[in-house]
Amino acid sequence: MVCDSWIAWEGELLHHVEIYVSDIERSHAFWKPLFSLAGYKESGRWGDGFTFESSKGAYLTFVQVAEKYAIHPYHRCGVGLNHLAFSVVDRARVDRIRTHCLELDIPLLYEDRYPFANGGTDYYAVFLEDPDRIKIEFVARSSDR
Ligand SMILES: [Zn+2]
Repeated sequence: MVCDSWIAWEGELLHHVEIYVSDIERSHAFWKPLFSLAGYKESGRWGDGFTFESSKGAYLTFVQVAEKYAIHPYHRCGVGLNHLAFSVVDRARVDRIRTHCLELDIPLLYEDRYPFANGGTDYYAVFLEDPDRIKIEFVARSSDR
């Protein structure tokens, strides 16, 4: 039997994503303020991992990679994940995230084309790198100015 609430959610969002990282403490320190700005809440924290959850229940889990697998490098231009994109409430929130990154020297991408790196004037986004150089994008939900 299929629950009605699942029918309403079908196709709306991912259930979860799990990402292995090279240094769980560094990743937690990086992600916690960004998730807070993006409206996610920390819903789990344990020795080698943590989870942040959206208001609609989608969650991202980060786990310390096992030492024997840590030698395999990640590169977003190779096979596998290229980037994660998070929608945020409006353009002002995108600007706040960018300011946060500038204050902490978090590497920003495509700065010469901010906030319209994808072209046009409707898609307002900031791009950055996480500590493992995974590309992260925060894009405004609305085109309000
Ligand atoms: Zn994207």
